[in-house]
Amino acid sequence: MDKVSHCPACGELWHTLPIPPEYHENHSPPYYYSTVIAVSSWETDRTEYYLCPDCGTKFDLCGNIKQSYGGTT
Ligand SMILES: [Zn+2]
Repeated sequence: MDKVSHCPACGELWHTLPIPPEYHENHSPPYYYSTVIAVSSWETDRTEYYLCPDCGTKFDLCGNIKQSYGGTT
């Protein structure tokens, strides 16, 4: 979800500090540290969804809202 720089639900900016060029090989563009939480499955050891640290909304890997915090659906 590197394309998404802020939360579509609450608008909180996820990108914080730019990553120094010497660390770029360990990351992917646009090279910003992000506060969004990647939640991995313990079964597959792959990222299952993302979690906004500000409003708690879950997103799928494309950045679409998966479940709003406190939602009834
Ligand atoms: Zn949010």
